[in-house]
Amino acid sequence: MLEFTDDELRHLSQEFESAAPQAIIAWAADTFCPDLAVTSSFQTQSLPLLHMIAEIRPHLRVFFIDTGMHFWETLLFRERVQQELGLNVVDLYPDDRWRVFLRNFGRRLPSEDPNLCCYLRKVQPLQKAMSELQAWVSGIRRDQTAARARAQILERHANGLIKVNPLLNWTKADVEAYRARYHLPAHPLLEKGYPSVGCAPCTQPVSPGTDDERAGRWKGRDKRECGLHTEMFDKTISVSLERFST
Ligand code: SF4
Repeated sequence: MLEFTDDELRHLSQEFESAAPQAIIAWAADTFCPDLAVTSSFQTQSLPLLHMIAEIRPHLRVFFIDTGMHFWETLLFRERVQQELGLNVVDLYPDDRWRVFLRNFGRRLPSEDPNLCCYLRKVQPLQKAMSELQAWVSGIRRDQTAARARAQILERHANGLIKVNPLLNWTKADVEAYRARYHLPAHPLLEKGYPSVGCAPCTQPVSPGTDDERAGRWKGRDKRECGLHTEMFDKTISVSLERFST
């Protein structure tokens, strides 16, 4: 296992600020494979990263978190992109120990306790999948949310996992230019007003011309992130389940 001191990681991260995403992905693959995986929500803006992975290291595992609450369009798009790019997609599901709880209360969770819902359906499955790996490639960009604006290209989580964010300095325009250049498909809900697509109960269409691509996510709530890219990823469950007791 390769070890990096905090200084080494910071220095490399600074160097990568001016590097092309492909160079950062190639470095991550050379440095951490086979203990490396990518995450993707298979949205329109996911396509550049997925296309680069297919070009650079097609056998790399791409984790797709199947919350059980996706739009069917997302599931079909995930299948299409996997087949067209020849990706090695691995679906992640909520831990089986929550099966009865989610069967009884799963429909209420998105509206009554979205943080708990995201934790059980997204964060915990990824924590488990990443627990045996050294590094994780994510497609977040600084222009997406305030939390993402503070991210670094290389980050270390509390458990030692190194997160690699090769597209951090890309803009929405960069994504669109790359998609056009390589004729990459769009998620079917994009043309219906969904620039960012999460789970069905928590995603609304946005008005044409809205700059904030995540404006339709958890609309009307003070929530912009599911927790995969925030401090929630380093936590264990801390939310009271009392209100859901039978
Ligand atoms: S996005 Fe909504 S439905 Fe999906 S896990 Fe989070 S709260 Fe639950």
